[in-house]
Amino acid sequence: MRILLCLFLAFATGRALASGFALNEIAPGIYVHRGVQEDSSPQNLGDIANIGFIIGDKCVAVIDTGGSIVIGRKLRQAVVNATRLPICYVINTHVHPDHIFGNAAFKDDHPVFVGHDKLPAAMAARGGNYLNALKRDLGAATQGSEIIIPTLTVKDVLELDLGGRRLTLKAWRTAHTDNDLTVFDEKTQTLWLSDLLFTEHIPVVDGSLKGWLSVLKEFPGIKAHHIIPGHGQPDPPWPQGLQAESDYLNVLLSEVREAIKHRQTLQQAVDTVGLSQRNRWLLFDSFHRRNVTAAYAELEWED
Ligand SMILES: [Zn+2]
Repeated sequence: MRILLCLFLAFATGRALASGFALNEIAPGIYVHRGVQEDSSPQNLGDIANIGFIIGDKCVAVIDTGGSIVIGRKLRQAVVNATRLPICYVINTHVHPDHIFGNAAFKDDHPVFVGHDKLPAAMAARGGNYLNALKRDLGAATQGSEIIIPTLTVKDVLELDLGGRRLTLKAWRTAHTDNDLTVFDEKTQTLWLSDLLFTEHIPVVDGSLKGWLSVLKEFPGIKAHHIIPGHGQPDPPWPQGLQAESDYLNVLLSEVREAIKHRQTLQQAVDTVGLSQRNRWLLFDSFHRRNVTAAYAELEWED
């Protein structure tokens, strides 16, 4: 009975389970795998970001590949289970390791690797450190993970045709990182925001706090039926689902400015800023202090 119930629930929620790798078809031909809300570890092997793929009439575009080759292989198997069409594109939404270290699993498919115009430089600058950290933190299971630099880059906007399905890729100004790319599927009005939107998981500032807040102002103008954040539950209400992140970033901005105005040291700011947000976010203790530090560095010399 329990097994039947599980099967029923699996079908009822549109989930397909392949060796513990859950997939959700959130709109026709759009498959999302939800990463867990944790730091990368030997247990989750970097399966902490939302990743997935989009199937056209001609071929498939993979969007982000997970935090290690192990996760990339699972995602690739999920593609193979879903369609016999070839994988023509692997799109990386930005440089962070949990989004790119599965790339090598797709090498033999010979896709075109796609990213923001600034992604190659970011990968070149950080790749060595990222690989060392991967080996150190996740262990031998991740062997074979590698940095694969995109050969097709997006400076402003780029359209990809998957056959009867057009994806619009947009390169943003510096926000979460300096190489954030979003993907919009016209057919289903699905906006793949990746790490420009965190829900549940605390937002992580690795680009520009002010830049991110200004980018966030543009999103409500985009008509979308489905939204995919980089971390947290897909399909938050739109555009209300932006509010929590926007609130957090605004608190960071105003309280760090206040701290600087009152000549507080970085350490004092780290100890006091944004604590009212603590209960609203998962992984607050892993990332919040780092966010305050980044914000302080950015705002210290502003006019
Ligand atoms: Zn990220």
